[in-house]
Amino acid sequence: MAQELRFDGRTVIVTGAGGGLGRAYALVFASRGANVVVNDLGVSRAGEGHSSAAADKVVDEIIAAGGKAVANYNSVEDGDKIVETALKAFGRVDIVINNAGILRDKSFARMTDSDWDLIQAVHVRGSYKVTKAAWALFRKQKYGRIINTASAAGIYGNFGQANYSAAKLALVSFTKTLAKEGAKDNIHANVIAPIAASRMTETIMPPDVLESLKPDYVSPLVLYLCHESTEESGSLFELGAGFVAKLRWERSKGAISKADPNFLPGAVAAKWNEITDFSNPTYPNAITDTDFVSLLEHAKSLPPN
Ligand code: NAD
Repeated sequence: MAQELRFDGRTVIVTGAGGGLGRAYALVFASRGANVVVNDLGVSRAGEGHSSAAADKVVDEIIAAGGKAVANYNSVEDGDKIVETALKAFGRVDIVINNAGILRDKSFARMTDSDWDLIQAVHVRGSYKVTKAAWALFRKQKYGRIINTASAAGIYGNFGQANYSAAKLALVSFTKTLAKEGAKDNIHANVIAPIAASRMTETIMPPDVLESLKPDYVSPLVLYLCHESTEESGSLFELGAGFVAKLRWERSKGAISKADPNFLPGAVAAKWNEITDFSNPTYPNAITDTDFVSLLEHAKSLPPN
């Protein structure tokens, strides 16, 4: 059996922890010794209403099991208040799990500005605000772990989710930049695209499938990535039902033409097979992985277009 990873003395903020995936994370972090801030605004799937009941219930469950937890009912858009709750109750923050989320699914033709704006506000601005409020603490203590929550819809696109998919992919690049900026201060950030049974998915999948998609099957990777012994940072994972996989960018072999006035659409068409050829790919991970200096050098030796 694998060694149990513990979080004694660590404080974790889990946003949207009143139900679904967030609740599962909160319970398991607490069972492994962490102090947990259970944040939840208590809204409907579409972001309507407001209630303290969801967060309170999870805090009660944690305390009944002998764990340490405190509730926070702010929106993630007020991330500083969530961090304030953590500092007041536990004096520190070590881990931020940006999990809170809502849906406003509609075909792009029918999507309104408010459907668009609300989704960006909760997912993107909310993750930004909570992380921003914790960042200075992380830098000072030279320790921090961040999990952001993307979605397969963000990676691949999905019918009826233009607003949500744009927000979710934004969190992938947000994570990659945080990982680069945080590296020198031992701040790690990773991003997950989970699939799990929750009120978000219960209407789109049959009961027997939902049974094997328990949120509990997403928690193991989240805990692993947040542990002090884990070095992984800046990575994207797809997971659910016991499956865990890492994703990365793949770039085709590509084609280079001389950058001269005759570099016209016809020159692109002539090299389309090379541009779309993935038989000899590269896996760029940074802006600097595109070496324009040597590409230009190579182009000099090419015949004119
Ligand atoms: P859920 O609806 O069960 O839980 C989301 C929680 O976030 C709710 O308790 C809600 O009250 C809370 N919340 C919403 N807006 C908030 C706000 N502004 N401030 C604070 N709390 C707020 O959904 P879930 O399935 O557990 O989803 C969790 C995360 O995982 C979301 O970001 C979702 O987009 C993402 N996700 C889930 C799935 C899946 O299969 N369930 C797939 C891909 C991505």
